[in-house]
Amino acid sequence: LIAPELLERLRSILDASQVLTDDDALRAFGTDATTFLDPAPSCVVLPRSTAQVRSIVRFANEHGVALVPSGGRTGLSGGALAASGEVVVAFDAMTRIFDFSPDDRTVRCEAGVITRDLQRFAEERDLSYPVEFAATGSSRIGGNVSTNAGGVRVIRYGMTRDRVAGLTVVTGRGDVLELNKGLVKNATGYDLRHLFIGAEGTLGFVTEATLRLSRAPGDAGVLVLGLDRMRDAIEALRAFRQRIDLTAFEFFSESALRHVLARGEHERPFPTPSRFYALLEFEAAGSGAAEDAASVFEECVRAGFVRDGVAGHGAAQARKLWRLREDISEAISGQTPYKNDISVTVSRLPAFLEEIERIVAERYPGFEIVWFGHIGDGNLHLNILKPADLPKDEFLARCREVNRWVFEAVQRHQGSISAEHGVGLLKKDYLGYSRSQEEIAYLKAIKAAFDPNNIMNPGKIFDP
Ligand SMILES: Cc1cc2nc3c(=O)[nH]c(=O)nc-3n(C[C@H](O)[C@H](O)[C@H](O)COP(=O)(O)OP(=O)(O)OC[C@H]3O[C@@H](n4cnc5c(N)ncnc54)[C@H](O)[C@@H]3O)c2cc1C
Repeated sequence: LIAPELLERLRSILDASQVLTDDDALRAFGTDATTFLDPAPSCVVLPRSTAQVRSIVRFANEHGVALVPSGGRTGLSGGALAASGEVVVAFDAMTRIFDFSPDDRTVRCEAGVITRDLQRFAEERDLSYPVEFAATGSSRIGGNVSTNAGGVRVIRYGMTRDRVAGLTVVTGRGDVLELNKGLVKNATGYDLRHLFIGAEGTLGFVTEATLRLSRAPGDAGVLVLGLDRMRDAIEALRAFRQRIDLTAFEFFSESALRHVLARGEHERPFPTPSRFYALLEFEAAGSGAAEDAASVFEECVRAGFVRDGVAGHGAAQARKLWRLREDISEAISGQTPYKNDISVTVSRLPAFLEEIERIVAERYPGFEIVWFGHIGDGNLHLNILKPADLPKDEFLARCREVNRWVFEAVQRHQGSISAEHGVGLLKKDYLGYSRSQEEIAYLKAIKAAFDPNNIMNPGKIFDP
């Protein structure tokens, strides 16, 4: 734990009200949405500006204090977990949105802006910030940048990386860098901006971001398809993509749907259950896409890889269908799900899915498995639910055993052990399945260049 005199120093660098030490604050700010490890930070600080963040970093270097950046704390890898007496640096007091430019279609904001607030800001200006997923009501821009958040519209708009036009960062050395300054074209050597995207707070703090906005989409058409086999989802994806520009192509299993329906808020999309479902979305307004989608749907049924389906007509119905997919995480959250967030290229998905299905059936007999994911991006969320009578530790140990088999398959198919949730603490033992030893050595050299004293989120992604 941090020494009392250092705590006093922190109170003098900031305002005393910006340093929290009460138990409730330590618990609330010291962790993310993972529930496997308990938080134990020394204190929480709430900077109000880039200059204050720089002062905190300089203080930490001077006294060898470990810092853990904290955004909306919705992360699923333990990246924002402070379990060893670190100082949590939370961005809840840095929420300004400024410098909107309709010509550049960009907006600048502080790292603590809630993602949904930025989306609203864009909508009020007839534009959109299209990074969307079930936690955007709580996640913050700094956290999104630091995990390179994806979500449900990546197939059309890309990851957070594709939206970042510029960043202000405070490196682990305490230098303030203005990276890329909103430029579209900038061929002046290494683009350091991209190192900070997805760095999970291990190189420094993101304090401000300039983000690209998009044209506001027209009314969406939504279809939910019933499928017998996982690989049918890929056949359907190919058929629809051939004719329509999709904005989303999501996937979930009957077990996932059952958990959502058990909450009593929604109805089945169609009466007969299927083993799997795909939800696809496209811009419907005036483009003929709705008619094209209906005819592709009929072709898929005739070809035998879609067995049933329903279309959402109008915004309200489309919303209802989306909830079947979006509510899955929340619906299973009470059962301590162990989440694997794996990806391969779309072309490898059919063979990969069959292998993973086989491994899971053989290695997890008796465990309930819930599948869903952004399958249009090759990204699958494999959730293993904790049996009620199994202690948490034993459950975690069991999941770790089976991880080996899952990650060996990921490696064989040249995939990723973490598609969008990050490595954090939960996946760091498995980094070698996705990154070669040579690559990891370069990652460590980059970390040492930006954070030579290892004060920035130490022990996350890898050990130095
Ligand atoms: C229900 C649910 C659904 C989700 N669905 C998706 C999904 O579809 N796609 C997806 O990508 N993710 C998803 N997530 C995961 C999570 O929401 C994202 O990873 C999100 O980007 C995390 O943002 P946050 O602000 O909550 O970050 P946090 O959890 O607070 O932090 C995430 C990481 O970023 C670091 N960090 C935070 N702020 C900063 C900063 N200012 N500077 C430097 N480092 C910082 C933290 O140290 C940590 O390593 C989901 C989570 C939940 C709970």
